[in-house]
This record gives sequence, C-alpha cells and structure tokens, in this order.
Amino acid sequence: SLKFAASLSRLGTESAFEILARAQALAAGGADIINLGIGQPDFKTPEHIVEAGIQALRDGHHGYTPANGILPLREAVCADLHRRHGVEVNPDNVVVVPGGKPTMFFAIMMFGEPGAEIIYPNPGFPIYESVINYSGATAVPMSLKEENGFAFSADEVLAQINPNTRLIIINSPANPTGGVTPRAEIDKLVAGLQAHPQVALMSDEIYSNMLYDGREHVSLLQYPEIRDRLIMLDGWSKTYAMTGWRLGYAVWPDAMVEQVQRLCINDHSCVNAATQYAGLAALNGPQDAVRDMVAQFDVRRQRIVAMLNDLPGVSCTDAAGAFYAFPNITGTGLTSTEAQNKFLEACGVASVSGTAFGASGEGYVRFSYANSLDNIEEAMRRIRAVL
Ligand code: PLP
Repeated sequence: SLKFAASLSRLGTESAFEILARAQALAAGGADIINLGIGQPDFKTPEHIVEAGIQALRDGHHGYTPANGILPLREAVCADLHRRHGVEVNPDNVVVVPGGKPTMFFAIMMFGEPGAEIIYPNPGFPIYESVINYSGATAVPMSLKEENGFAFSADEVLAQINPNTRLIIINSPANPTGGVTPRAEIDKLVAGLQAHPQVALMSDEIYSNMLYDGREHVSLLQYPEIRDRLIMLDGWSKTYAMTGWRLGYAVWPDAMVEQVQRLCINDHSCVNAATQYAGLAALNGPQDAVRDMVAQFDVRRQRIVAMLNDLPGVSCTDAAGAFYAFPNITGTGLTSTEAQNKFLEACGVASVSGTAFGASGEGYVRFSYANSLDNIEEAMRRIRAVL
C-alpha cells in the first residue's frame, strides 16, 4: 500500500469549503439554501478590473513574470500602503503571490519545525493551525475572548513567549470573529517584543479595508521598530471581490525576501500575468466600488447583529470589522456543530461552527454577511422559527 509522509496526517482543512459543498449539494437537490457560510464577497469584481485582465491577455501578457510580481504592481502596492497606512515600503520588499494563503504557508514553513513554537489566534483562520501542525512545530493558541471584543491581550501573548517561540501570527480585523484589536494592545505587544528579538511576526491584514463605526485600521507596518521581522499580508480577494482570481501580496523584511522568492520559484514560479494586470487596475483605478461594498457590508452588519441579538439564547458582539458575525449560541443549549447542522438541515441556512476555527470557538457560530440584506433577514427569520 502507499506510504505517505507522516506530516500529511497533520494537515488540517478549512471547513467552510466543506459546508459550501454540502449547501451546494442540498441546493442541487432542490432545497432553498441561503449561504452565510463561505467568506467571500457576494459582489462581482468591478468591471474596469475585469477589463484590464482581458486587455492584458489581448496585449500578449502570456508568459512568466518575475517571481515576486511585475514591478508596476509592486510599486502600486507601495503607493496604496502609503495612501492607506501612511508608510514607506520599498517595492523590493513586496512579494506578489496567488492569494493571501501562500504567504501564510511560506511564513509558517520558514519558521516551523519540530521543537519550534508558533503562537496563533484561536478562534482564528483555520489554515494557521493546520500549517503549523504540518510543519511539525507546536501550535500555541492565543486566546481571543468575547469580553475583549475578540482582541488579543498583549500581556497574555507576551507571557506565552519562550526561547522556542519563532513566530507570532496576528489577524485584525479578524476571521471568524469580526474582532478588531485596539491600537493600545498592539503598542503593548510591539513594545514587549523588544525583549524577544528572535520572534518574527506575521500580521494578516486581509480585511484592512473593512472596519466600521469610524474605526481606523492599525497596520503593523506603522511600527518601525519591528519592520526587520514583520511579514504583513494583504491582498485583493476581499477588498476588490477577487477571491477566484488568486492574487495577494505580503511585505517581507530584508532578511526574508530572498528566501520567500525561492519558495515562490519552487512552488508556483509567479502569479499568472493577466491577473497581475487586473490587480494593477484595481489599485490604480477609482476606489468607489470598494467604498460602496463596505457601505453595504455595514448596513448588513448592523441588521444581522441586531437580528442575532433578538434570537432566543443568542447574543452577538458588534463585529467591528471584516464581514462576519460570531454570535454566542450557548443559551440555545446546542453545541456549535449541532447549531450549524440544525440551521442547514432544518431551515436551509449555511453557517460555520465556531469549532472549525479552533477549540475555543465552541459556543459560537460564524455567519458571513456577504449576502443580500433580503437573504440575511430571511435567514434570521428561519433560524428564529427553528429555535
Ligand atoms: N486571511 C484570512 C484571515 C482570511 O479570512 C482569508 C480568506 O478567507 C485569507 C487570509 C485568504 O485569502 P485568499 O483567498 O486571498 O487566499
């Protein structure tokens, strides 16, 4: 029989994709399904971006590009980072990759090995824990609590650091909780890291354009004292409704930029050229489509949070960023998985069990509100009837 590498059995997955497949199978069988499970904008990619991708194909951009991405795109990323976060970044430090995920895979594989420890958000994006386990490193959960708006406590994180700690992963605005970490907590973490110069930091800022109620995004790039060990991940998937194009980037410090390009060359050579030109048009073109999407997300967020808080046994924080609500469902008497299955099977509403995001997600269910207001309201009515 086949003899797989032992590491393969440690690789996890992202259950949102399994729920999507189940919901699609139920829909194919005639069920009326409302999908609040998968985390992707329900909007189409803005037309001028699509056109730029088509034009790039017509213009003959069919070959390999540099492994780190075409220079105009990396320059446009730097201009965007300057505009949004007020920071100077050298295009040589930008590495364009196929989506947000490759950066986390490369960053974790760069530091993870048996004996190493990596601190990661829990509940958090499930790929962090999966890849840490795959690498052989020890996954050390950073606990994110509802009473803190699902932000980390810098004191708690700093107390988890020991000589084996190699990397800390943070994510704000966060999946699955919608939590946003306040600047004061980040200040404290950065200050505390001065005593631990061997610890690298990966800041997943893929939702940096999606904050509500006047909140401002805090980019870790704004802290010069950690720039030499910071990997800042962002991309096009969420901001420009481009999940299927597969385009993302990270800003890497000088000491890692060669290594990550070597990983890119070993893995995928480069992102397909036409997609890079589409991404260039996204950054250099008008941003009204982005503002529009965020404004619509905000209306839906307020509605879903209000309707969740109205359900018996359910309470929900205000979900300060991203496009997820993460209600506490312990008052329903259901476990997270029971609630997820009941919502899908008894009333055709797809959500994702909090436990899909780590053990500390028990007691919660994630709803993505990247769906129409009508569908969100109908979904909440159906759940109310079932509860
Ligand atoms: N980081 C977080 C926190 C996410 O929620 C996601 C997608 O859901 C990603 C990264 C990955 O995005 P991409 O589709 O660009 O790989």
